[in-house]
Amino acid sequence: MKIAVMGAGAMGAMVGGRLAKAGNQVWLVDVWKDHVEKMQRDGLLLETSEGVQTLPVSATTRAMDVRDQGGYMDLVIIFVKGLYTEQAIQDAKVFIHDDTYVLTVQNGVGNADILAKYVPPERVLMGTTLAAAILLGPGHVRDSTAGSPFTQIMPLHGEITPDVQRIVETLQGAGLEAEATPEAETAIWKKLVVNCCTCGIGTITRLSCGQVCEEPDGAALVSEVIREVCAVANAKGLHLDYKENLEHFFAVYRSSTHYASMVQDAKKKAQTEVETITGAVVREGKRLGVPTPVNTTIYHLIRMISSHYNDQMY
Ligand code: NAD
Repeated sequence: MKIAVMGAGAMGAMVGGRLAKAGNQVWLVDVWKDHVEKMQRDGLLLETSEGVQTLPVSATTRAMDVRDQGGYMDLVIIFVKGLYTEQAIQDAKVFIHDDTYVLTVQNGVGNADILAKYVPPERVLMGTTLAAAILLGPGHVRDSTAGSPFTQIMPLHGEITPDVQRIVETLQGAGLEAEATPEAETAIWKKLVVNCCTCGIGTITRLSCGQVCEEPDGAALVSEVIREVCAVANAKGLHLDYKENLEHFFAVYRSSTHYASMVQDAKKKAQTEVETITGAVVREGKRLGVPTPVNTTIYHLIRMISSHYNDQMY
């Protein structure tokens, strides 16, 4: 399969590397020049539980190179952070034709709707993944998936077709446990529950996931955040049980020393995915008439923090 990955950071390089290793024709597109040049020169150093390997990969900063040298793609996977999704799909348009599918398993909600502004909605695949990765430096990525790397996808509109199944098989062939299921939207919101807690509360307090759980004030906030996200999901017709998600969160994160990606972005004074994570809950809540006071407060605080990194006293 001919596949272009837009955003070859941690996840894009790991998934793209795995797909290349499995024999697909993969293009890695990223705006980070040093990273792309390192991959062009020395290949991609990919660490997985199966071993460490240097893979020759096609990498570029210019989407047009993909079209010129590879033609149109069968599949485009968007792995930029949510705030760059619109730019990434606009750039990718040059190698997308009528039969191309575009897949997002980015965190958060709303990326698929952005893609559907540029690609027919039945060609947009959305989902979520429990796989994880860390970019250790230019051209060097580690698959940091703990436990089951479960990826669930579905078309934004329409049926799960044999084409979609073929894409799932391609992911499976690359060692990514995947399925196509109409439950993928529920799975996206289940992960959103987690992200709203770990990213939302973590970014304001600068605490790890485990510290947020252990702290009684953190635990109280987690409970309210989850209650609200579940209420919004329920209003959308998705089955998300508050108690079940609360118990799941504490069971998984109570002893986690991990700092959520948004906490790490804030440390780097980078822009965050708050719009597609907490912001998405706030907007959907408003649209559906479900109050989200705690998430709304967190949303505004994170927006203030990230737009004033250089004005803060410490
Ligand atoms: P990352 O920051 O490591 O990688 C994103 C890459 O996109 C960067 O290398 C950046 O240079 C590049 N980029 C930005 N704008 C671009 C553009 N217009 N065109 C091409 N490249 C561009 O991020 P990540 O951790 O890989 O996360 C990607 C997505 O996957 C996010 O939505 C994240 O929440 C989600 N996610 C991450 C993990 C993880 O373990 N890292 C796990 C699950 C989901």
